[in-house]
Amino acid sequence: MREACSLVRDLLPLYIDGLVGEDSSKIIEKHLQTCRDCRRQYEAMGAEVKIETATLPDLKRPFLRIKRFYITRTLLVVFVLAVLAIPVYFGFNALRGQGVTFTSFTASGYVSRAFDALQEGDYSLAATYFADSDDSRAFLQSLEALQEEGVTITTTLAPWRTFSLSGGYTAGQAIARMEHEGESYDVYFLVSYRRGQIIPRNIMLIRRPLPGHRMGILYRRSEWPEWLQELDQVLSPPSIYLLYDTN
Ligand SMILES: [Zn+2]
Repeated sequence: MREACSLVRDLLPLYIDGLVGEDSSKIIEKHLQTCRDCRRQYEAMGAEVKIETATLPDLKRPFLRIKRFYITRTLLVVFVLAVLAIPVYFGFNALRGQGVTFTSFTASGYVSRAFDALQEGDYSLAATYFADSDDSRAFLQSLEALQEEGVTITTTLAPWRTFSLSGGYTAGQAIARMEHEGESYDVYFLVSYRRGQIIPRNIMLIRRPLPGHRMGILYRRSEWPEWLQELDQVLSPPSIYLLYDTN
């Protein structure tokens, strides 16, 4: 092997990778044109390089596919866990008697529909949502009598929060805007819900709702209009005076 050949062959890997200078490249190219042995060596090395670059994407693609599979699977697992977390959370709330539970949604729907019926003045429909008890009947009759005296429910806000209480009860709340002789009153109704029945519990007159429509600042009962005190009197004395929402 000539001296030039050994030099060129030493430089060939660098030349293939394009790492040699312009002058060196010219010398190598000139040598390759004249020396068959070195050209063969170059072609062999160049072919290897070509094979490597040709197979690279093929090697990458399965990896990408595997990567994509793991990402998809991870997302799926996260999604399933998130979906499963909801009933677990509801069940946990039902056990500790606090927070949103399965019955909360049913109760919300019931309270909302019952108050819609009251707003429409459809007391027989409203009665189907309320418990078949003396308290409920007295409450509905009192409301109906008030309506005849000119007290109207103009709007009802859907219960914005329900909470389960120990003993399988779910408490619900609704605010009804009631009007009497041009005056407007926001009346907070606390009801409980159990097995498809609403039991009226307590009413309060809201002076000013607090931000986020949670419990508002209340009027003293002595400040209430007489008709609202009448409605209050048909309800059993409330067992809960202060309801504190811990959520
Ligand atoms: Zn040579």
